[in-house]
Amino acid sequence: MKSIKSPLLSNCENILHGYSTRTGGFSQGVCRGNNLAFHVNDDPKNVRKNHLHFSLHLDFPLEKLIRMEQVHGDNIEIIDKDFDFATVLVCDAVITALKNVPLMVMVADCIPILIYDPVKEVVASVHAGRAGIFSKILPQTVQKMQKHYHCRPEDIMVSFGPAIHQCCYEVGPEVKEEAEKYGHGFALKKKGKHYYLDLLAIARRQLEELQLDTKNIEASHYCSACNTDIFYSYRAENGSCGRFAGIIMLKNVVNVNLESSCRYD
Ligand SMILES: [Zn+2]
Repeated sequence: MKSIKSPLLSNCENILHGYSTRTGGFSQGVCRGNNLAFHVNDDPKNVRKNHLHFSLHLDFPLEKLIRMEQVHGDNIEIIDKDFDFATVLVCDAVITALKNVPLMVMVADCIPILIYDPVKEVVASVHAGRAGIFSKILPQTVQKMQKHYHCRPEDIMVSFGPAIHQCCYEVGPEVKEEAEKYGHGFALKKKGKHYYLDLLAIARRQLEELQLDTKNIEASHYCSACNTDIFYSYRAENGSCGRFAGIIMLKNVVNVNLESSCRYD
């Protein structure tokens, strides 16, 4: 099993995080590898084994894992002390300040986003495809962190995991027009008669509009559709594939000076 880390978040000692790959794992067929989703065409026994192995690999408590039933909407849930871990949340973003509660987001081309505020000690995971980006799930999550936990934009760190990049994200005329309508025309590139959309560029701009520091925003260089040997890609695999995941968790460590729990370099 292999996972990849965000260099930005790796500087922070109070969190555990990682993005899974499809390397290793027990799944067969179109989900071959380390598929972490139950809702795709895979044997649930293998998915459970993949979950267990991934939890051992990253060292997070599987019994506390927060899984979202992602619906490309803009519902954002807060996990607090009253949360019942048997619940499956229908939402596309989760936020918590609880220790030892891993938040998972599953994707195959959509952007898995991990967020951390090292000052207020709050984490979030966000699922953002085109619909989520257009409906502003990402800035809404940051604003909810500000409102609920008094997070300051300048402290917030954001990692975009492997996702479909502009090189592979051709869009039709309706999506092109919708992008322009929302003011995202800057993220369209024309090649021949075809248009390609850069979702990461839009997501980055949405964060900059909230005054996040550009040095605290980082994107994986992997395009999921260019790298189906390492990741799952809904687009490149014709809609029939597994899901990989991003995970973030606050560790239960005592740090007397929270301001120094991350090296911003
Ligand atoms: Zn690509």
